[in-house]
Amino acid sequence: MSQTIYCPVCRVNFKPKEELKPGAVVICRVCGARMEVLQVEPEIEARKYPQEPEEEIYDRVNTFAELKGYVFKDTKKLVMDGLLQKKEEYGDFFCPCRFDNIPENICPCLETRQNQVKKEGMCL
Ligand SMILES: [Zn+2]
Repeated sequence: MSQTIYCPVCRVNFKPKEELKPGAVVICRVCGARMEVLQVEPEIEARKYPQEPEEEIYDRVNTFAELKGYVFKDTKKLVMDGLLQKKEEYGDFFCPCRFDNIPENICPCLETRQNQVKKEGMCL
C-alpha cells in the first residue's frame, strides 16, 4: 500500500503503520497531532481531530514529548498558557517564544520537530 496521510498541523505526508478505515484516529508521528480519517479512497483524507483548544494543544505536546522521550520543565504551564493565548489572538498554536506567527512556528515548531531539543537540550 503506497497511500500516505497528510498531517494538516506539520504539513508532512507520512505512511500510516496500519490499514485505515474512515473514522479511525491517527497520531502524526512527526508532531503528535491527533487526526480523524474521513475517507480512504481514492486517497486518505484526514482532518484534525475535533477538540477544544486546551485539550488539543495539551494532547499534542504530551503526545509529541512521549514520542520523542522528552520531559517538560516546570515552566510548562507558562508556555501552554502562551500557546493558548496565541491561538486566541492569531488563530493557531504559534510558539509563544517566537515572534513570527508563521506555519513553521506552529507548536511543535519546525526546529523542534527537526531535533532542536536533542541538539540544544530544550526547545526555545
Ligand atoms: Zn504532524
